[in-house]
Amino acid sequence: MKTYNIAALPGDGIGPECMDATCIVLDRMQAKTPGLQLAITPHRAGAELYRETGVTLPEAVVQECIDADAVLLSAIGLPDVRFPDGTEVQPTMMVGLRRALDVHSAVRPVKLYPGAPGVLKDNGPGIDFVVIRENLEGLFASFGGGAKVGREVATDTMVITRAGTSRVSDFAFRLAQRRNGRPSDGKKLVTCVDKANVFRSMAFFREVFMDVAKSYPDIDNGAVYVDAMSLYMVQNPWDFDVLVMENQFGDILSDLGAGLVGGLGLGPSAEIGEEHALFQPSHGTAPQLAGKNVANPMATILSAAMMLDWLGDRYRDDVCTAAAVRLEGAVAQVLADGRVRTPDIGGTASTTEVANAIADAITDT
Ligand code: ATP
Ligand code: MG
Repeated sequence: MKTYNIAALPGDGIGPECMDATCIVLDRMQAKTPGLQLAITPHRAGAELYRETGVTLPEAVVQECIDADAVLLSAIGLPDVRFPDGTEVQPTMMVGLRRALDVHSAVRPVKLYPGAPGVLKDNGPGIDFVVIRENLEGLFASFGGGAKVGREVATDTMVITRAGTSRVSDFAFRLAQRRNGRPSDGKKLVTCVDKANVFRSMAFFREVFMDVAKSYPDIDNGAVYVDAMSLYMVQNPWDFDVLVMENQFGDILSDLGAGLVGGLGLGPSAEIGEEHALFQPSHGTAPQLAGKNVANPMATILSAAMMLDWLGDRYRDDVCTAAAVRLEGAVAQVLADGRVRTPDIGGTASTTEVANAIADAITDT
């Protein structure tokens, strides 16, 4: 039996509370699952650490993350903690960690759970798609190089490579193989989201995507402009299954997706490479809620479920894969039940109460 080493980065603001809640749930999952062993080791990184020591992400912590089987991160950054040039510490730290782990594909599920406060009047056959965001290049590649700031003009650079686009596209098709297809008719579909009619870089992105699609004749493919996609995500989200796109487009559309299905407190994410993977909620550190035990821990807990699913897939460990399904099921159960929820989704329960309710809802194997 393998013990999975998990590097845990609780971070700043509501991060530590959401991480504590997640550990309560993961401890109970282990107690209820013969054959599941997680060794979770916390490490300090982020804005508070920078305030104390002048370092955001110590080299030793990067190495711990590289050596671990998976990284679970809560939330990093505080608006009042900045580098001398005035920029927030969070983007630099996250870009550094992503590059060190070479996590090329970010996955944000957009799934409406029964009982979650969706915003559409009519949710049709349901909402269940994923946004896959290329995580290392695109317009964000400009960060730390490629940007030019003059007195009158500032430019950023969009970098689309064949290698980067191929691997994120391939990742999207492989993920589609493991999913149930779109809610409207169960068809598996991977959609390239771009702006190929205007930008050469985006036309290239689509071209490379279509090359990769040829290797997956059993899965439907399509391409949609990003502006149209923003409309469809609100009008007919059930017609989509897997969406794949450039970094900045993914950044924007995944927040739109989170808004559709109940807000940031419910949105998990995974950043996955060939060797490493990092799991974190899509929300930030919400400093105004910090220390009050009111933050919604569900996004972090669902991220931990994605982590178990990834470990199960990578190590062909059915115990882990089944635990992922049971963990997501426990969150869904608490949402559907409706009695224990945090204020962001209309309840009065504390972070800890939600964690305990989810732990109690975990089924036996
Ligand atoms: P970042 O720059 O790190 O992405 P942000 O400015 O986008 O951060 P977040 O911290 O993600 O802001 O959150 C925005 C608001 O959403 C918060 O101020 C808070 O009201 C709400 N929010 C976010 N996450 C949660 C959570 N887990 N539970 C409850 N409310 C949340
Ligand atoms: Mg944000």
